[in-house]
Amino acid sequence: MKLYNTLTKKKEEFIPIEEGKVRMYVCGPTVYNYIHIGNARPVIVFDTVRRYLEYKGYEVNFVSNFTDVDDKIIKKAIEEGVTATTISERYIEECHKDMEGLNIKPATTNPKATEEIDGMIEMISTLIKKGHAYEKNGTVYFRTRSFKDYGKLSKKNIDDLEAGIRIAVVDEKEDPMDFVLWKPKKEGEPYWTSPWSDGRPGWHIECSVMSKKYLGEQIDIHAGGEDLVFPHHENEIAQSEACNGKEFAKYWMHNAFLNIDNKKMSKSDGNFFTVREISEEYPLQVLRFFMLSAHYRSPLNFSRDLMEASQNGLERILTAVYNLEHLLDSAASKELSEAEKNLIGEIESLNAKFDAAMEDDFNTADAIAAIFEIVKAANSNLTSDNSKEVIQTLLDKVLKLTDILGIQAKKEEELLAEEVEQLIEDRQNARKSKDFAKADEIRNLLLEKGIILEDTREGVRWKRA
Ligand code: AMP
Ligand code: ZN
Repeated sequence: MKLYNTLTKKKEEFIPIEEGKVRMYVCGPTVYNYIHIGNARPVIVFDTVRRYLEYKGYEVNFVSNFTDVDDKIIKKAIEEGVTATTISERYIEECHKDMEGLNIKPATTNPKATEEIDGMIEMISTLIKKGHAYEKNGTVYFRTRSFKDYGKLSKKNIDDLEAGIRIAVVDEKEDPMDFVLWKPKKEGEPYWTSPWSDGRPGWHIECSVMSKKYLGEQIDIHAGGEDLVFPHHENEIAQSEACNGKEFAKYWMHNAFLNIDNKKMSKSDGNFFTVREISEEYPLQVLRFFMLSAHYRSPLNFSRDLMEASQNGLERILTAVYNLEHLLDSAASKELSEAEKNLIGEIESLNAKFDAAMEDDFNTADAIAAIFEIVKAANSNLTSDNSKEVIQTLLDKVLKLTDILGIQAKKEEELLAEEVEQLIEDRQNARKSKDFAKADEIRNLLLEKGIILEDTREGVRWKRA
């Protein structure tokens, strides 16, 4: 399996540090608002990478953080007259809901910056002891020039970088390239006590600390959007390697940006959509399918036309699955004919095509094309005269490959309102005759179908979850 490593600028064979295991860290969102569809790109892409690794048999330890202390969170808290924790907890919860809609597998660990302050103080202390950091008036800076490999990820030269910096009139830093590890609080800001000041950590230190705590000093894959290469990931490397004296991450993966109207999607320009807004127009599966229809390292332009095309494409797969399930009901079990054996052979080679696409730096666009070919083969070859075995083989194949991409290909058969009413009536009758097991069974069935019951004084009310 090959993946593109930003560190070497090459596609490289993936060889994990420990056989059969993958330690993976993905920089997560800053939680001061609903996540936007740009933030959803790394979430979807790296969940798909994880799913493919698991399909290959690796045990993946997947860590993704929430940045829950930050200027933007504090600003929003002040605007609303609530605490920063109220804001971050609210949007972490909303983010989890969006991720569920996007069918993102829960991370092994989702650490929060505010719960890891002790670890940050410890790492900063070590960096000071080793001469890689220094304190000035309560602020601690990383001594960037003390780390010889600075710039190795972003391929930037420290002297060129420095030449581009406008030096502030009063600068307490030893060098303009030094960056903050700890800063004193301002009035009204959340703070923690440290040996240097009552204050809070800089942004970069949190990922170095959480990655080390949950995955160890050396990890296999560190990932995020391409805007994080510099300075965030470059600074993470400097901190971690200066502290631990070991290579931090073996492979660095970065997704390209999601644009709108061919312009970079940005909150400040107002040209962005939240995942929540999109969920009101399309099932979130469509958004996931749309994101995977392009290679993760290519910029992707969001448009209604492309979303419609994705919806149609996805619908084609769902319909094929639905039809195959119905064929199964009427087909008989019998020995495979020659034509059926050939068809299974064709499907196996399309599966190999899918794998080859994914092995080539996660080319999900080509992987989806292979699924479409399987769907086409199913649609044009199978009827209820075919053997149950061949229909089952094709059905399993489509379900397995779509699942690797995190696409749920089974159509949810939604209950109609009158069916719900009927079940509620059945449940009431069961209760009247004290058949509580049956009443519970009906309640659970409804719950599975996304129907929530509320027993009120006026009777039973229901709503869709
Ligand atoms: P932030 O909350 O800004 O720290 O971003 C969280 C993640 O979303 C990071 O990995 C960013 O690189 C990524 N990201 C932000 N905007 C976009 C975008 N328009 N396209 C793709 N990735 C993005
Ligand atoms: Zn990070």
